[in-house]
Amino acid sequence: MNRMLLAMLLMVIALLVLACDDATEMDAGEAPDLQADERTDARTEAGLDILGEDMLAMIEAINPQVIEWRRHFHEFPELSNREFETAAKIAEHLNALGMEVQTGVAHTGVVGILRGERDGPVVGLRADMDALPVPSRVDLPFSPSVTGEFNGEEVPVSHACGHDAHMAILMGVAEVMAAHREQIPGTVKFIFQPAEEGPPEGEEGGAELMVKEGVLKNPDVDAVFALHIISTQELGTVEIREGGMWASVDDFRITVKGKQSHGAYPWQSVDPIVTSAQIINSLQTVVSRNHNVVEHPAVVTIGRIRGGVRSNIIPEEVEMIGTIRALDPEARLVIKERVRTIATKTAESMGATAEVEIPMSIHYPVTMNDPGLTRAMRPVLESVIGAENVREALPVTGAEDFSFFSREVPGLYLRLGGRPANVSREEAPDHHTPEFHIDDSRLDVGVRVMTAMALAYLRGEES
Ligand SMILES: [Zn+2]
Ligand SMILES: [Zn+2]
Repeated sequence: MNRMLLAMLLMVIALLVLACDDATEMDAGEAPDLQADERTDARTEAGLDILGEDMLAMIEAINPQVIEWRRHFHEFPELSNREFETAAKIAEHLNALGMEVQTGVAHTGVVGILRGERDGPVVGLRADMDALPVPSRVDLPFSPSVTGEFNGEEVPVSHACGHDAHMAILMGVAEVMAAHREQIPGTVKFIFQPAEEGPPEGEEGGAELMVKEGVLKNPDVDAVFALHIISTQELGTVEIREGGMWASVDDFRITVKGKQSHGAYPWQSVDPIVTSAQIINSLQTVVSRNHNVVEHPAVVTIGRIRGGVRSNIIPEEVEMIGTIRALDPEARLVIKERVRTIATKTAESMGATAEVEIPMSIHYPVTMNDPGLTRAMRPVLESVIGAENVREALPVTGAEDFSFFSREVPGLYLRLGGRPANVSREEAPDHHTPEFHIDDSRLDVGVRVMTAMALAYLRGEES
């Protein structure tokens, strides 16, 4: 059913592409020689097709409010599965807009359901809510001075991944769409998701738990969209690609068991340390010798190894943990299997044994951008922010739990530029660092693209 509707959507979008042919034939960086004002006018006119004058004006008018929301969340960050005040603020906003609001979804998640005046498909828009156990060293009037408890320790907390911006943008989209219900042929589900960074030890959470609790059901979501602000990407630009956007994650544990002996008489041992060294080296051949690196990037990393107590004792056991990243679901399976085989067979060849636990608690699928949906939405994005601002994304070996949504229904994930204009890409501090910083002046770009994609999808499926 989805595929058929998607094909129809593609046709509608094709017509739209013809309508704004000039804009879409431009390559990034080859914008015609327009003055900044003229360019904004051209963009606004193009965006009129989808958003209409009213919505465009409203998006511009509420941008200061969206920025204020982002700064509020920034000042009062909360850790994964502890987004209590954050959730309350979101729920209050969605309630005020007259939506059906569900709270306590996957612990602290909030879902708002906006029914348009006409029946139609259901589109999901997702924003993640959690902050990180990272101090903020950026001097701003709204810098946080908040601590939280992380795995039993008191830690400073900040929005060092930019999820504050995602929530503010989605609250803005909710406001714009709720004010234009008559233009919505279908239903929009606003999904505010806790614990994207992973729940605390021993807890469930995030997108996986939301799906388990039925967030994509009743009404059933037909397609789902999300974005991530990126501190190193040019301000106001959007990056997308078809297929793998973010990698899968499979954390794993290998426990090598041998036979203990005095370090001076190693022939009496089955040495798990030497065995582990062989395993670690051999694991590096999985990507370099078993995997097609031309088609998809992949990574196998050992991040910790533990064994032994002193120099003259060969221990009985060594434990190592690591992570596998892949950008293709098939490759992911092959790599996991190779890691298992290499660990167990190498141990066997040394007279030891290896137990392999894959996955451990962290295991995200590949975040796949549905090819049809991506092709359909590219001209929509170009029309609302200008073709020169829509770029081809490189795949990233980091991961996103949005993959649990886009594994169930066609999904599209895009990256939104938030790098301050006076900072180079190389200088811009990365996510998850105390220096992480974004320019929040163009959150309206996020509101535009999310609103436009939702509307284009619903209208495409309606026709
Ligand atoms: Zn993050
Ligand atoms: Zn993030």
